[in-house]
Amino acid sequence: MLEHNQEKNMSQKITLREVGLRDGLQIHPTFMPTADKLAWIAAEAAAGMSEIEVTSYVPPKLIPQFADAEQVTLGALKVPNLIVAALIPNMRGAQRGIELGVHKLNFVMSVSETHNMKNVRRPPEDSVTDFKAIVELVKSQPEGKRPIIVGGLSTALGCSYEGRVAVSQVVKYAKQLVEAGADELVVADTVGYADPNQVREVFKAVLSEVGPVIVGAHFHDTRGTGLANVSAALDCGVTHFDASLAGLGGCPFAPGASGNIVMEDLLFMLDSMGLETGVDIEKLIEVRKIISRSLPDIAMQGGLAKAGLPRNYVSVAQRLAAAA
Ligand code: ZN
Repeated sequence: MLEHNQEKNMSQKITLREVGLRDGLQIHPTFMPTADKLAWIAAEAAAGMSEIEVTSYVPPKLIPQFADAEQVTLGALKVPNLIVAALIPNMRGAQRGIELGVHKLNFVMSVSETHNMKNVRRPPEDSVTDFKAIVELVKSQPEGKRPIIVGGLSTALGCSYEGRVAVSQVVKYAKQLVEAGADELVVADTVGYADPNQVREVFKAVLSEVGPVIVGAHFHDTRGTGLANVSAALDCGVTHFDASLAGLGGCPFAPGASGNIVMEDLLFMLDSMGLETGVDIEKLIEVRKIISRSLPDIAMQGGLAKAGLPRNYVSVAQRLAAAA
């Protein structure tokens, strides 16, 4: 299966998924006005981003940043050619998403027991049971109204309470989520502990068990290993990557540390490697202005935005256009 995936990687497009509006904003204390969120979504979709996680269906009391989840979802659904995804912590979140007509539901559970207890107050086994019920609800929807259901495994490469997480645990829950009916999986280094060797070990193990199901990678650059981990995941045949514009989303336990891997830097690396993403680098860089205007107090990361494109840089899109 691994060889099969690697072969696919040579001809397959890489899919980038913007998670900044959810992962990037969730701990930011200032509310980003709904109109700015929608401008960000529209501008990034216009730059070629095919999928955006636009919000989270958690109770607004818990995270005020997502008090406008309904408006953001409905606004994003009007953007052409965009897969609109949202995070769901539980069944209530799934119901809200289905009512709104969101395209994709991202369910998350933590592989680490302590993290799952702190986050959703139940052991991971119970989260798998919750997921089964959610999948049943999703699959009972009429065709055309049935969202894609994604099983996300947080703290799969390390936990801020437990430290190292056993690969066998990641594989166990990956298999259980797929058996429960997940259309896709996302394996996440939630706290930015991973190194490339560990990434190879975990992703090879998961990919060999769950076969053709898409396994996306979600890395944080908290300790500077983010893009090295992407490279390691590419070697394993991973073709779907989460990132956030300007690397928004630091960790509350690591003040000043960067958050998700920086979307622009990830795109530059992939594009330089000749991998096709469908996203226009220069248009993507421009979208940063929407964030800096809307949230002047937010920390924005990114090497490419600071240094600019290399002299005489030719993007994959330009190469393809020249060859056509
Ligand atoms: Zn994350």
